[in-house]
Amino acid sequence: MPALRLILADQLTRDIASLRDVEDGDVVLMAEVREEARYVRHHKQKIAFLFAAMRNFAAELEAAGTTVRYVRYDDETNAGSLREEVRRALNGGDFDRIVVTQCGEWRLAEDMKSWARAFNTPVDILEDDRFICSLDEFAAWAEGRKSLRMEYFYREMRRKTGLLMTSDGGPEGGEWNFDAENRKTPPKGWTPPTAYAARVDQTTREVIALVGEVFPDHPGDLDAETFRYGTTRDQALRALDAFMERALPEFGDFQDAMVTGEDFLAHSLLSAYLNCGLLTPMEVCKAAEEAYRGGAAPLNAVEGFIRQIIGWREYVRGLYWLKMPEYRETNFLDADAPLPEFYWTGETEMVCMAEAVRNTMENAYAHHIQRLMVLGNYAMLAGVAPREIQDWFLTVYADAYEWVELPNVHGMAVFADGGVMASKPYAASGAYISRMSDHCKSCRYDPKQKVGDEACPFTTLFWDFLSRNRQRLEAIPRMGMMYRNLDRISDADRRKIKSQADALRSAS
Ligand code: FAD
Ligand code: SF4
Repeated sequence: MPALRLILADQLTRDIASLRDVEDGDVVLMAEVREEARYVRHHKQKIAFLFAAMRNFAAELEAAGTTVRYVRYDDETNAGSLREEVRRALNGGDFDRIVVTQCGEWRLAEDMKSWARAFNTPVDILEDDRFICSLDEFAAWAEGRKSLRMEYFYREMRRKTGLLMTSDGGPEGGEWNFDAENRKTPPKGWTPPTAYAARVDQTTREVIALVGEVFPDHPGDLDAETFRYGTTRDQALRALDAFMERALPEFGDFQDAMVTGEDFLAHSLLSAYLNCGLLTPMEVCKAAEEAYRGGAAPLNAVEGFIRQIIGWREYVRGLYWLKMPEYRETNFLDADAPLPEFYWTGETEMVCMAEAVRNTMENAYAHHIQRLMVLGNYAMLAGVAPREIQDWFLTVYADAYEWVELPNVHGMAVFADGGVMASKPYAASGAYISRMSDHCKSCRYDPKQKVGDEACPFTTLFWDFLSRNRQRLEAIPRMGMMYRNLDRISDADRRKIKSQADALRSAS
């Protein structure tokens, strides 16, 4: 008897577990549904990217002889949710089971657990083996550990994959991590590599028109003339080649830098493709290793890049599934402020913030340091409620899925998990942004000033953050120096900082 095989928007690869043993009579179900597209107000480019990539992938499957039942967003009979589309497909065919690969979000995974009973049909939920570390393997690694630091997990993944390992089992270059070499700022006159921008095909053009019409209330720019995401496997491979040839050699050096008007620097822009399945983590890492072994890119760049993928990416996924659903509810710093309006509009005199929001709205993208040290850092310093900042991050990026977004925001950026993920909060004043960017030069604020009209909001909020959270944070070993510096500030100045920080929080 045939199977109904559900393929989700982030499972767009013919090598996904649920497509490996397709037989005659099986039907692949793909659906653009209201519930998934609207449960947060996803950036218009994210919806356009995923719907177009889904349509192109469905066409590829059909061309290869697979029967696809594809439900478009504007089909009159669209039932609005995956669950109801599965029900409709079952009613319209004769299937003896449903086959699906593990999804990337706890909410949907919970719903799927009830499908077998609801539909009176067995549901095979297959492991998503695109990831290098299975969920069981991660749980076994985490078992009994006092702290779950990424660095140790990463070494395990290096050993497991053999990436950048020497023949005697040691790390290439004698070190596991070359991050100390990866904190440079670009020299004056440096021109960033040209980032890949795909040619917009007819399918994507149609979807862009649909999204513009149907989701006008969603944030972000959308225009077929400037849309840069590839929506086919071929285009994703071209994006990979472009990164390897043009940007990888400088990826390490300028990984933590920010430059006004430069949205991508030497970053890869591959996360959207990796997360939806158009590229796989291992093929991307192998391409980078090959570049190193062939002398086309230095070790600090290649190791740094591979660590982001087999280290951070795998680690956050493992952590998400290990800790959900309680993880999302923690609020270690008792943060409860609303999200400032400028996260949506970019209307602020803070140049670093305006730049990060502009990049976000124009490209459904911001690079890691903008996400962590500007957008996330400000939210933590200002005491924004974790739920509000999580929803914002889930909404605005083309690569955002809860399994990867939540730990990065909740654990890494705003320390709402109290240190499960990071050994201390990534809290920084304007001095950090001034060191790592050119933004402060054109900003009306002064990163060195804590109070007064010219005081940098990051700097004011940073010192206030330390004061407000003293009881929670002082005992953390790596916070000692910050608290010693705080104690050097006079009581009178601390009072001024507090009242200026209160004013900043209530103004936004
Ligand atoms: P590059 O800088 O070129 O890095 C290469 C690849 O490494 C990325 O494509 C990505 O797949 C992986 N990677 C790097 N850092 C991380 C990380 N911390 N966690 C997981 N993978 C990583 N990444 C997402 O894919 N989706 C998200 O929703 C997301 N939200 C984030 C929110 C915050 C607050 C922070 C601090 C980070 C977030 N990240 C997220 C991680 C990272 O910022 C993005 O993966 C990266 O900026 C994507 O751009 P890129 O492809 O040019 O990455
Ligand atoms: Fe950002 Fe402060 Fe620098 Fe302005 S001075 S760009 S607000 S860090």
